[in-house]
Amino acid sequence: MGVKTPVYLDYQATTPMDPQVLDAMTPWLGPRFGNPHSSTHRFGWEAEAAIDQARGTIASLINADPKALFFTSGATESNNLAIKGVMEALIKQKPHMVIPVTEHKCVVESAKVMERFGARVTWLPVGANGLIDLDDLADSLSDETALVSVMAVHNEIGVVQPLAKIGALCRERGIYFHCDAAQAFGKIPLDVERMKIDILSISGHKIYGPKGVGAIYIRRSRPRVRFVPQMSGGGQENGVRAGTLAPALCVGLGEAARLASLDMGQEESRIKGLMQGFLAKIRASHPGILINGDLDARWWGNLNISFPGLSGDLLMSGVRDLAVSSGSACSSASTGPSYVLEAIGRPRSLASASLRFGIGRFTTAEEMDFAAETVCRVVSELGGVTQDAAE
Ligand SMILES: *Cc1c(COP(=O)(O)O)cnc(C)c1O
Repeated sequence: MGVKTPVYLDYQATTPMDPQVLDAMTPWLGPRFGNPHSSTHRFGWEAEAAIDQARGTIASLINADPKALFFTSGATESNNLAIKGVMEALIKQKPHMVIPVTEHKCVVESAKVMERFGARVTWLPVGANGLIDLDDLADSLSDETALVSVMAVHNEIGVVQPLAKIGALCRERGIYFHCDAAQAFGKIPLDVERMKIDILSISGHKIYGPKGVGAIYIRRSRPRVRFVPQMSGGGQENGVRAGTLAPALCVGLGEAARLASLDMGQEESRIKGLMQGFLAKIRASHPGILINGDLDARWWGNLNISFPGLSGDLLMSGVRDLAVSSGSACSSASTGPSYVLEAIGRPRSLASASLRFGIGRFTTAEEMDFAAETVCRVVSELGGVTQDAAE
């Protein structure tokens, strides 16, 4: 096989930066050094203009008013601002929020901080398919609910939540809907009007842009989202997020968004084809594998597979030619089985014998053939996975 190893199959952790993004950024790391907030000379104006162009591109991808889009350091900061900012503003009138148990750690931890300040959180369970139940969601809402926070595409298991339906439920009741779209922006169509999303979080490095930059959309009218900024300072970004913007990073995120918009549908089908081919090959040899998360409501750049009967450690060392994440190490530094796999009912042993395969723009058919062969061989060598189809 002519592929270079290890093959990178961890596109949910981060994506390689597109070379065109680097090209767009380079001048802003060199000669074009102005402070975008300097309003008295050309150095500042040109940086501001470049940032505003990026802002427009990003906003247009989610059908948003560019004035409602603000740059941040990444989706972690955006999610912190969404949860803490809204709760700080509304905690007296509406101390309640609803969050699925499978949300990203930065959402979960932000909500826990607000619990210490007196907020009440309904931790919404998910079904065995990883999706929330809309009746459960509706039942959890009350006059005291300020915010519902649901991620668009799941980082560990790839499921896509029914955003438009969640948005409709929230809007009817005057509840803000925050969507963590770190894994969805630039990959699937998002529309803050049609989906009735009030706050949306974006990350640069999940869409072939630079690390250390992201954005947040915060609706300005009908309804105007009430929130308290979490970064104090010189009033940049209209007071929403103080601190001098990094023109290179903002331009990089803008270029990444522009590139993503060019062929979104085509790229989605290419990725779906690659991953379905990969799945078919593994299933042909090992019908007993289990897929984590719904098979239909899914972003096919992510496939999280459990291998019943195998040891997670042996599996991981067996597939060392593939740069994948394991079911036990999905939340970076923490050890122990993933809380997400546990939430969809996978027992501990199975959760730790799980691998997340993540593909994207630079993944080739040859790499996927190699990956499928590697997985099939390693699973067989370890004497694993029954032959009866379990799903
Ligand atoms: C990566 C990720 C984040 C964090 O984004 P950063 O830009 O790395 O801070 C948040 N939510 C989801 C779903 C992610 O995949």
